[in-house]
Amino acid sequence: MAGLSALAVAGKRGFDALTDGGRAEGATERRPAARWAMVIDLRKCVNEGGCTDCIAACDRAHNVPHFDERAHDVKWIWREPFEKAFADHGSPYTEDAFKGASLPVLCNHCDNPPCVRVCPVKATWKRDDGIVMMDYHRCIGCRYCMAACPYGARSFNWLDPRPRVKELNPDFPTRTKGVVEMCNFCEERLAKGRAPACVEACGEQALVFGNLHDPGSEVRRLLRTRHAIRRKPELGTGPNVYYLV
Ligand code: SF4
Repeated sequence: MAGLSALAVAGKRGFDALTDGGRAEGATERRPAARWAMVIDLRKCVNEGGCTDCIAACDRAHNVPHFDERAHDVKWIWREPFEKAFADHGSPYTEDAFKGASLPVLCNHCDNPPCVRVCPVKATWKRDDGIVMMDYHRCIGCRYCMAACPYGARSFNWLDPRPRVKELNPDFPTRTKGVVEMCNFCEERLAKGRAPACVEACGEQALVFGNLHDPGSEVRRLLRTRHAIRRKPELGTGPNVYYLV
């Protein structure tokens, strides 16, 4: 009940009600699993200039380490220039509108994730609700998944990340040297009926999260009424992060 109450509040802030894939009390039909997706309103986001509230919230929630050397960077959600994030976007006029702007990018929790296919030890897998998961204990650090991801959405811990975590969140595991990590769509928060940390942190409500399988969800409404682009859709990965332009 506490989770449902939280949802009612969270739903006002860019988060649709959960479909738990389970059986509602008294129901005879099993509801289909949710299909989680994020919609990012680029105009709202870009208006905020260099805002990094979503990144800071994600880093705090997940004990993401900070290294001085760029080569050791660990990223869950980060900013990329529009031209780099959408290097192959067809319209020069869209590019013109976002010239010089940077936008948040993260794991796309792809429908057809190449990272999952190449993992030799099944340390990464896709759940029924579409979230691509990572088992840090099972990872052997081969980095095949990093090579397979066309979005650069996975990071490798070249050094021990624990001393580099600014503010330790005891509710989320830290990682060790030699393992890969990436955004998990805040599955640990979803399980408690909470919105992803980045969505909650965005004062502009530029980030919206919800269930694509629910035609009444806010993400579906936005995708029905606004033009959205995705990163490298031509690769057939089926990204589930949409950018409203
Ligand atoms: Fe895998 Fe990369 Fe797709 Fe995330 S964005 S599911 S890491 S291929």
